[in-house]
Amino acid sequence: MRLSEKNVCLSPAPNLSNPVTVLQSCWQQRISRRKPIVSKTNKSSFKSKALKVNHSSCDSISDDLKRHFELTLGRDEVDASHYYLYNALALTLRDHQIRGWRETRNRYRDMDQKRVAYLSLEFLMGRAINNAILNLDLDAETRAALQDYAVSLESLVDEEMDAGLGNGGLGRLAACFLDSCASLALPVTGYGIRYEYGMFHQRIEEGYQVEAPDNWLRKGNPWEIESPENTFRVKFYGRTNYYTDETGQMRASWLDTSDVMAVPYDMPVPGYRNDTVNTLRLWKSEATDEFNLDEFNAGSYVDAVAAKNLAEQITMVLYPNDSSENGKQLRLRQQYFLSSASLQDILQHWVRHKGEKFTSFAEKNVFQLNDTHPTIAVAELMRLLMDDHGLQWDEAWSITTNTMAYTNHTLLPEALETWSVRMFASMLPRLLDIIYEINARFLAEVSSRYPDDNERLRRMSIIDEEGEPRIRMAYLAIIGSFSVNGVAALHTDLLKVGLFADFYEFWPEKFNNKTNGVTPRRWLHHSNPGLRDLISSKIGEEWVTNLDQLALLKPFATDKEFQKQWHNVKLDNKRRLAELVKATTSVSFDTTMLFDVQVKRIHEYKRQLLNVLHVIHLYDRICRGDTSGMVPRAVLIGGKAAPGYAMAKTIIKLVNSVAEVVNSNPKCEKWLKVAFIPDYKVSFMEVIAPAADLSEQISTAGKEASGTGNMKFMMNGACTIGTLDGANIEIREAVGAENFFLFGLDSTQVEEARLSYDPNALIDADSDFKRVMNLIESGHFNQSEPGIFDSVSASIRSRYDAWMTAADFRGFVNTQKSVAETYKARERWLEMSILNTSCSGRFSSDRTIRNYNDEIWKVQ
Ligand SMILES: *Cc1c(COP(=O)(O)O)cnc(C)c1O
Repeated sequence: MRLSEKNVCLSPAPNLSNPVTVLQSCWQQRISRRKPIVSKTNKSSFKSKALKVNHSSCDSISDDLKRHFELTLGRDEVDASHYYLYNALALTLRDHQIRGWRETRNRYRDMDQKRVAYLSLEFLMGRAINNAILNLDLDAETRAALQDYAVSLESLVDEEMDAGLGNGGLGRLAACFLDSCASLALPVTGYGIRYEYGMFHQRIEEGYQVEAPDNWLRKGNPWEIESPENTFRVKFYGRTNYYTDETGQMRASWLDTSDVMAVPYDMPVPGYRNDTVNTLRLWKSEATDEFNLDEFNAGSYVDAVAAKNLAEQITMVLYPNDSSENGKQLRLRQQYFLSSASLQDILQHWVRHKGEKFTSFAEKNVFQLNDTHPTIAVAELMRLLMDDHGLQWDEAWSITTNTMAYTNHTLLPEALETWSVRMFASMLPRLLDIIYEINARFLAEVSSRYPDDNERLRRMSIIDEEGEPRIRMAYLAIIGSFSVNGVAALHTDLLKVGLFADFYEFWPEKFNNKTNGVTPRRWLHHSNPGLRDLISSKIGEEWVTNLDQLALLKPFATDKEFQKQWHNVKLDNKRRLAELVKATTSVSFDTTMLFDVQVKRIHEYKRQLLNVLHVIHLYDRICRGDTSGMVPRAVLIGGKAAPGYAMAKTIIKLVNSVAEVVNSNPKCEKWLKVAFIPDYKVSFMEVIAPAADLSEQISTAGKEASGTGNMKFMMNGACTIGTLDGANIEIREAVGAENFFLFGLDSTQVEEARLSYDPNALIDADSDFKRVMNLIESGHFNQSEPGIFDSVSASIRSRYDAWMTAADFRGFVNTQKSVAETYKARERWLEMSILNTSCSGRFSSDRTIRNYNDEIWKVQ
């Protein structure tokens, strides 16, 4: 391979469909790039000129790529590894966002619009490179530029590590929201933490999950730009000092603190072909340059420097627990660090542009709290406004409660964060004072509305006094916010009657629903090019920014020719996934099989176990020679278990043990394959969702807040087998009951059935179920490791099984039978598949974000 001396555009790529057009457009763009140098005083003419320049020109991509490769990275052809080329390309693409980035910032400032800060401890971004190419419309130019290096775009893309700064759905939602906000040109900034180590990598050894650190920054992150000039100081420990200021006001200050510096790293968030580039600002913790003088003077220079590590630990690692994290000091430090740095950033911006006057602050700012994780922001905003900016309580409280909005993400009571008052008192003493004051004033309000109702006061207090006193962060979030939303209709309804019933009674107007969504750019346009092109060939491209347009596909659902094309696209996608499965698990999936997929965090409430029971049932039938009505299936399961969650890890082992037995039995070869895909992550989901025939959304009804995996599958034409839980209900409503495989108890029936739940009776009355339990309990899948699945069978047999797996076994198995029958009726299945995509419009995160803006943020 030889690097061309001249511009690639002059030696057009051989496999481009029309090199002549490419050449012409290159020349046109070259000419247009020769723009006159304008003086800085003539700002407006510069702006309008700049907007006309086409930065998508292929010669600029190719020039920039060469420049970054040879100059920025200092490489020549012997170094032309994928790694350096990837970096050169990423820098090139970043360059192409810089102008839009600056212009977007200026536009927001000049328009003096309201701004939104989306505060989240997690942003599960995945890869940035494809997203940048797609949203900037640089696919053809990028491919052309790479011709000269004889590498494919696909092979470079694989060099990028996923930015895995999140656990699962909650973090991925934040990432989809950023894409939609930028694509809708809304002034929304994401604020998060720049974890040195993101979500751990999962390997499977002997069937068990093994965690490895995700050192995603080791080779550098070409997308980020450090902004050390916007560093802030975050305080910890110390004590509160009350004093009277020169005007006679009672004031407080926080003294003798140990401080940590928050340094921002900005990542561009490009909108879809709209010249908007928003910002994801991630904070890194650094030590201050102040030495501990005592130690220093005592001669322990080395100890004093080593102590700096404590500060840098704050942003070292993402907590790998999905839906629960109890009481860890470091976690609270992360939450406060993010909240304080982000609020200081926003207040500094305000003061710079508006001065120390906050009367219109609440009209111009809103903070969306992604779950309770950043809820300490409520107390921190009070502190900053009072202690640093001199406001009185009432004014500060009015600003806080008119700017904070809280999104709840879970119904699991164990996931509701509480912090011990004792730990809080030592780490954040000034914040604890403020929380006590908020609570006292709130409880006074409650008792004036409900006199002599001490029970209610106890229930609603921010401080849980039972046992060691604890702070209930969700209550602080509700009390400090003007909006409280759930993430699917059922979830919001359940919040109102369950966890937050007292608060709903007190402030019904605060509660609202915002059903989640996913971005169709990443989850259809980018990840499923075959389907994207087929769809666009029928209905044009408007669907990319207006997903409701997919409804125009409905008339084609029964069109034989269209069905055939649809089927071929799916087959192609299944081939791609089969390759991935083969490469990662050595299991061969036959693409004619029904691809039956469940990928998501491993959690008992998501009931991967129910899926395994069905697989074992199929295995049992195959072994008995009872294959009537059966359809050949490839079952794919994937997901990470929290490292400390023993049962989830045992379920992974069970899946792998069952897979081993099934895949090595020749009788099964034709009928059943089972694979557990290790290290499930965003870039894998981009291959998995387009290839799935059947999407498993089988959580215990009333437990999954919304789900978003369900939406990605639907958009890509998978049919869902699911319970009436989370957004499944809305998916079924959208696609029609006849196109959804429903089974199981609903959330009301689950709570009723709990009272007299007798799983052993259910097992005994069902011979299929009995055989399945017998296979597990006889050690059939773990002959060399006796007893390892005892906890699994015990949990299924327990009357107190919170997830009521046994209750839905029969319904699940029966519905899977009708899945098999429908799959064999090829045309009916294809119709259902097409209808699923056609009806998925409302699950675009563009719709979700429009709802947030219309009803909560109210930007312009
Ligand atoms: C979409 C997504 C999730 C969320 O999946 P659910 O099925 O809604 O739990 C989790 N992880 C990744 C990598 C995702 O892409």
